[in-house]
Amino acid sequence: MRRIYEDHAYATDWPASWWRASKPVPPPRPALPGSLAVDVAVIGAGYAGLNAALVLAQAGRSVAVLDASQPGWGASGRNGGFVCIGGTKLSDGQIVDRVGTEGAREFRRFQLAAIGHVGALIDSNGIPARQGPEGEAYLAQSPAAMAGLVAEAEAEARLYGEAPEVLRREELAERGLAGPGFHGGLIGRAGFPLHPLEYVEGLAALAEAAGARLFAGTPVTALAPAGGGWRLATPRGEVTARQVMVATNGYSSEDIPAWIAGRTLPALSSVMVTRPLTQSELGAQGFTSPLMSCDVRRLLHYFRHLPDGRFLFGMRGGTSASAAAEAETQARVRRHFEALFPAWAGVPTEYRWSGFVCLTGSLAPFAGPVPGAEGLFAAFGCHGGGVALQSLAGAEVGRLMLGERAAIPALMAQPPRRFPFPAFRRLGLRMAYAAYARRDGPLPAVPA
Ligand SMILES: Cc1cc2nc3c(=O)[nH]c(=O)nc-3n(C[C@H](O)[C@H](O)[C@H](O)COP(=O)(O)OP(=O)(O)OC[C@H]3O[C@@H](n4cnc5c(N)ncnc54)[C@H](O)[C@@H]3O)c2cc1C
Repeated sequence: MRRIYEDHAYATDWPASWWRASKPVPPPRPALPGSLAVDVAVIGAGYAGLNAALVLAQAGRSVAVLDASQPGWGASGRNGGFVCIGGTKLSDGQIVDRVGTEGAREFRRFQLAAIGHVGALIDSNGIPARQGPEGEAYLAQSPAAMAGLVAEAEAEARLYGEAPEVLRREELAERGLAGPGFHGGLIGRAGFPLHPLEYVEGLAALAEAAGARLFAGTPVTALAPAGGGWRLATPRGEVTARQVMVATNGYSSEDIPAWIAGRTLPALSSVMVTRPLTQSELGAQGFTSPLMSCDVRRLLHYFRHLPDGRFLFGMRGGTSASAAAEAETQARVRRHFEALFPAWAGVPTEYRWSGFVCLTGSLAPFAGPVPGAEGLFAAFGCHGGGVALQSLAGAEVGRLMLGERAAIPALMAQPPRRFPFPAFRRLGLRMAYAAYARRDGPLPAVPA
């Protein structure tokens, strides 16, 4: 496999996440023991691959899901658990420029449907993953950002007919959203928080109950057309399949399939979780809202209270995935946390981890058939917002593979272009981060 970060990031043991610590480890799935012929092979057992596998197995296809590690080991088992509007780094205006007003509305309907899809999956199957109320707070980090948020709310009202609630700075405290770095905000009504591993493991069990076979510790090391279908090489055997779904997102290999080379840019996102906060600590900070929340920096911070009183705080990671760089990143995450929540500067971090989100050269996600490769499909590129979107994208690609009509919006149906100078993607990311940090402005000063 050819990946663009250091090996450390792809070590297949579980990250030391709060999700793993708070959920009993399920019995590990077996590795593929030998060769196998199936209708469909799915590469990657995250939300996208498992949702596709579920749809396909329910329709009677024989399905093998192959993961280099375990179901949910990738971003799907280590994210912030925000089931939210997301998936692209394009502004609404840029989306309209690319696919027109109707195309933008179609994409918004898909984003909202994706949230509903995850909610329905967990609720109707008794997956105990929900962790809080519906809605999300978007907090402005400066007066200028607040003016931008208000303008955005007005534009969204015109474009999508949505009317988020606008909160002025002085209204934040009474809503439990106070902080020295917050200058007002918006409350959107869509989305809810969940336990990412509960969801992914519930999903894996549903796919298995429908007849899909899950093989863990089974990296696909080569993928090639063979006899009207596809041949997948793994360390202990070959899989032949009529159709293949590539659901490897930020963990993709540049050669599986060769078409994907240079089209993705994995980027690290890093999370810390504190010990449970006491009532007096909560009161001292004034940030008590159970809503999932984020600021609106280009390099955003995302944060929320967890059901047992812990606080989760996440932000973009570094551009190196070595063990030393990871330690530096975690120290930086802690500094940002203390700047935004100074009353909790003495509250220790008990869990910290990182993982890959997936950017694309078009700044939009892709879901659909791989051009020029009969029987090969993919879904990737949710730009750090894929809990909902990758779930529905996977399910819709599954429907496409069945020959059914799928509701994939025009924005997501366009294959992403290759990054110019793919060998320099990480350098480009570093330069973009520096420019965004300048534009985002400083963090609040930490009180002496
Ligand atoms: C720290 C962090 C926080 C995030 N927070 C949020 C959030 O709060 N809300 C939100 O909407 N999104 C969030 N995201 C993004 C979201 O988690 C992802 O968009 C989503 O989980 C992607 O799902 P997926 O199934 O496409 O890929 P993944 O879950 O990444 O799964 C890919 C799988 O492919 C496997 N794989 C790769 N190559 C091979 C191969 N050759 N052979 C076999 N298996 C292979 C990997 O082992 C992995 O399990 C976050 C991501 C991270 C990393």
